[in-house]
Amino acid sequence: MIIVMKPGASQQAVDHLLQRIEAKGLKPLHMPGAERVVLGALGDERLLAELALDADPNVESVKPILAPYKLVSRELHPHDTIVRIGDASFGGGRFGLIAGPCAVENEEQLRASALAAKAAGARVLRAGAFKPRSSPYAFQGLGADGLVLLERIGREVGLPVVTEVIESGDVELVARHSDALQVGARNMQNFALLKALGRAGKPVVLKRGMSAKVEDLLLAAEYVLAAGNDQLILCERGIRTFETATRNTLDLAAVPLLKAKSHLPVIVDPSHGTGIRDLVTPMALAAAAAGADGLMVEVHIDPPSALSDGPQSLYPDQLAALGKQLEAVLGALGRSL
Ligand code: PEP
Ligand code: MN
Repeated sequence: MIIVMKPGASQQAVDHLLQRIEAKGLKPLHMPGAERVVLGALGDERLLAELALDADPNVESVKPILAPYKLVSRELHPHDTIVRIGDASFGGGRFGLIAGPCAVENEEQLRASALAAKAAGARVLRAGAFKPRSSPYAFQGLGADGLVLLERIGREVGLPVVTEVIESGDVELVARHSDALQVGARNMQNFALLKALGRAGKPVVLKRGMSAKVEDLLLAAEYVLAAGNDQLILCERGIRTFETATRNTLDLAAVPLLKAKSHLPVIVDPSHGTGIRDLVTPMALAAAAAGADGLMVEVHIDPPSALSDGPQSLYPDQLAALGKQLEAVLGALGRSL
């Protein structure tokens, strides 16, 4: 429920109402604005009805939040949320490029790939230490050693780092070594993980599940916000369809749709979205044109030797060329990289 207070409502009246909402076992929200205060009440709406807010002389209007996701919805929060990873910003007109190898493999590979990402204009370095692979026999990542290496190389090249966390018990460890935590497609509905990330104190990049609807993605994000963390970036990374010519079907229509429904920033991963190196740049540019707040792109110093996702990883010079083209596309829309 969204409760708009009358312009002259006193602080005392606001505090009193917040207390009454809480006393009913509902979650109170306080959103002071320039002209008037807006309150929120989340939970069982029958309990809210018992508060008889329509009769409160300090209340101007009361309207339900129609979306099933509440904290994530634009209905409750009309302005864009800006998420910061290190000094990179996503949302509210800011665009950020996240780039790096699929996985941390070794020091030389990571350093060279990170330098390539930075040279191309990336503001955040990505690389997985815990890899959720479809096969138990595939490279699973370097684990904790990989995290330490990623943290060190990020500092060395001067980029904040984002890396995947695959289970709730690892959240503290991964948060200690990274600037943002990624939830992979395979874990989008791992609710224990999402709740733990609500308490992580670090920004979250939440990837869309392979068979998740837009609403499922937004409800997954709601878990993280409801647990106390609103620094969340939504990531469209392609979904499974009948089409097998590409690794996934990159749903770019989801970008403006998500942005209409939610105040959270939306980025696109054209690497996992296509699985094919030559498709990454065109789809990255299309994502920027569609209004994405950023991109996550895989780059590797030597893709044929990559331990994971070589066929979709850009060569360093391709990422540099993408950086230039992105500037042009964003510039045409009055934005910048
Ligand atoms: C990744 O970003 O390396 C990854 C595993 O992505 P996804 O979860 O989207 O498959
Ligand atoms: Mn990958």
